[in-house]
Amino acid sequence: MRRRLFATTLALVLFAASAAQAQGLTKIAENVYSYVGVKDDSPKSSYAANAGIVIGTDGVLVIDTLSTAKEGKRLLKDIRAITKKPIKYVVTTHAHFDHALGSSVFTGLGATLVGHELNRAYLAKNGENMLKKILTFGLTPQDVAGTRIVLPSLTFTERLTIRMGGETIELIHLTPSHTPGSTLVYLPRQKVLFAGDVLFTDFHPFMGEGDIPGWVKALDFIEGMDVTAIIPGHGPLSAKKDVAEMRDYILFFDAKAKELAPTAKDAASLAAELKQLLPARSQGAGMIQYNLMIKYLPAKK
Ligand SMILES: [Zn+2]
Repeated sequence: MRRRLFATTLALVLFAASAAQAQGLTKIAENVYSYVGVKDDSPKSSYAANAGIVIGTDGVLVIDTLSTAKEGKRLLKDIRAITKKPIKYVVTTHAHFDHALGSSVFTGLGATLVGHELNRAYLAKNGENMLKKILTFGLTPQDVAGTRIVLPSLTFTERLTIRMGGETIELIHLTPSHTPGSTLVYLPRQKVLFAGDVLFTDFHPFMGEGDIPGWVKALDFIEGMDVTAIIPGHGPLSAKKDVAEMRDYILFFDAKAKELAPTAKDAASLAAELKQLLPARSQGAGMIQYNLMIKYLPAKK
């Protein structure tokens, strides 16, 4: 009897999980929903970037906005399947296009765009160029139609706490890491952390603009946090073991790339060599080579 009850409960849980997946956003904790473990990692699906929401009594806070206006609208549709409350705030974890260029969809609804001062500066300097450049990353003009660069109107430099309808959202900037302005979004009541691209789980990370010592510091900080669920920038719902693996990954990549770059023939051959040494993760061939071209072998493209 107990076993049947267990089986029924399990079936219900699995059904609920698949129903949540079908909606797009998965319930992570009370009032917190997110994309996690998106399977489609194509350019048209924001390279499987995660994004999420916190729902307060009087409104919604969105964390990251995907890569284009079209993708931002997909997120908005998935949010509207869960709540009709007004969207009050949009927070971007960093200024890379797959996390930030859907923002105009939400500011167009009257939401306040919140971001680190360095993310604002990055977008102000590179935003228009980034918008042109994404056409070389596999997106068509139709995919990016309607996408506009919007700059955060509310900025901070170290920490910012947003209190919205009974929920507390803490924005934490420690040091340059994945990008200069990469920000952790922490929900202390739920013990949930949106790590942005400070954490990639099961995906090869983009390291081209990374500050490795700062990145290690940020990962050490996360390991010391009171968290029970971590949403990475790309990949499935994660835990502290994934944070430790990420630190091992970037330290190993950095050391090996520096060791082998001086004698490497070109980025492609070094990428093939590194791929043999690194753990198997998604987006390997392209991302390893891209990191090498930008950060370690700029003269040997
Ligand atoms: Zn990124």
